[in-house]
Amino acid sequence: MSKPSSPDHHHQSPYHRVIILGSGPAGLTAALYTARADLAPLVLEGNQPGGQLTITTDVENFPGFPEGILGPELVDRMREQARRFGAQVKFEAATAVDLRQRPFTIHTEEGGATVYRTDALIIATGASAKLSGLPAERELMGYGISACATCDGFFFRDKEVVVIGGGDSAMEEATYLTKFAAKVTVIHRRHELRASKIMQDRAFANPKIAWIWNTVVTDVVGTREGGVTAVRLHNKQTGLDSDYATQGVFYAIGHQPSTGLFAGQITMNDVGYIQVQEPTSRTNVPGVFASGDAMDPIYRQAITAAGTGCRAALDAERWLEELHD
Ligand code: NAP
Repeated sequence: MSKPSSPDHHHQSPYHRVIILGSGPAGLTAALYTARADLAPLVLEGNQPGGQLTITTDVENFPGFPEGILGPELVDRMREQARRFGAQVKFEAATAVDLRQRPFTIHTEEGGATVYRTDALIIATGASAKLSGLPAERELMGYGISACATCDGFFFRDKEVVVIGGGDSAMEEATYLTKFAAKVTVIHRRHELRASKIMQDRAFANPKIAWIWNTVVTDVVGTREGGVTAVRLHNKQTGLDSDYATQGVFYAIGHQPSTGLFAGQITMNDVGYIQVQEPTSRTNVPGVFASGDAMDPIYRQAITAAGTGCRAALDAERWLEELHD
C-alpha cells in the first residue's frame, strides 16, 4: 500500500513513521523498542523532559537497581539507551494535534509553526500534580506553595512546612522535606493513610513529622512578598475551624492525566484517562496508541509505565507493517 497522502499545506513537514509524545518511562521505553525495530522514532519530550521521575529522589522499586537509583538518572539512562538505537529526542512540546486523517499532524511551539507528520502516534504524555483549586494556590504557587518537594524543599531550610495528602507521594515528600525543614506536618482528610505500609512506617518513625488527621485545608494565608504564614483548617470530625502556622505548603493529593491536547479526538474516561482496547494499547483512532500515566489511573508506577510503553511500541510496529503490506 502506498503512503497516505498528506494535506497540501503540510507537504514539506518532516515525516516520521512513529512519533512519541512524552519522555517519561513510557515514552522512552516506546522509543527504545521502536528504535530497535528500525523505525527511527521521534520523541517530542514535552515541557518536563523525563516526566515525573525527574521530580522524585530515590527510586527503590525499579527492578535491576538493588541500591536504588535517582529518578533523573534513571530517565537519563533510558534516554541514552533509546538514542543508542537511533531514537531522535527533541525538547519540544506538542501544542496541537490533528488525528482526523493520516499522516497525523503534530504542531509544536518550537520555532513558531513546526509541524510534524506521522503514521503512528504513541501518546505518553503522563500526568501532573493536582491542586485543590483554592484561589490562594494561584496567588502563592512558588511563593510558599509547591507541588514538588524535590524541586522546592531546599528553600525551606529550618522552616516549618505542611504536606497535604495521605498517599505514597505525601509520605515520600514529607520524609524528603525533613532533610531541610525543622518540622513537617502531614495533614490528611481521613484517619487512615492510603500509602503503602513501608512508606507509612518510614514516615511514622521520623521524629520531625507530625500528623493532623480528619482535616482539610480550606485556605492558605500569606502574600507573595511575605510568603505563607498559615493554613486554615477544618476538622471534619469536630467541625472546628482553626489556623495552623506554617511557612510552606506542599500538595501531594494525586495527579491528573495530561491529555487535554487530545480532547474530542481520542476517547477518554470522565477525568481524562485515555481509553485503550485492553490488553492492547490501541485507542479508538487506528494508528494512535496510548501508554503510561496518560491511560493508567490505577498503577502509575515507573515500571508499569515502561511496560505499557513497550506494548505501544509493539502495537505501533505491527500497525505500520499492516499499513505497508
Ligand atoms: P494517591 O495514592 O491517589 O493519594 C492521594 C492522597 O491525597 C490520598 O490520601 C487522598 O485522600 C488525598 N487527596 C486527594 N484529593 C484530595 C483533596 N482534594 N484534598 C485533600 N486530600 C486529597 O496519589 P499519590 O500519593 O500521588 O500516589 C499515586 C501513585 O504513585 C500510587 O500508585 C503510589 O503508590 C505511587 N507512588 C509510589 C511511590 C513510591 O513507591 N516510591 C511514591 C509516590 C507515588 P484519600 O486517601 O482520602 O483518598
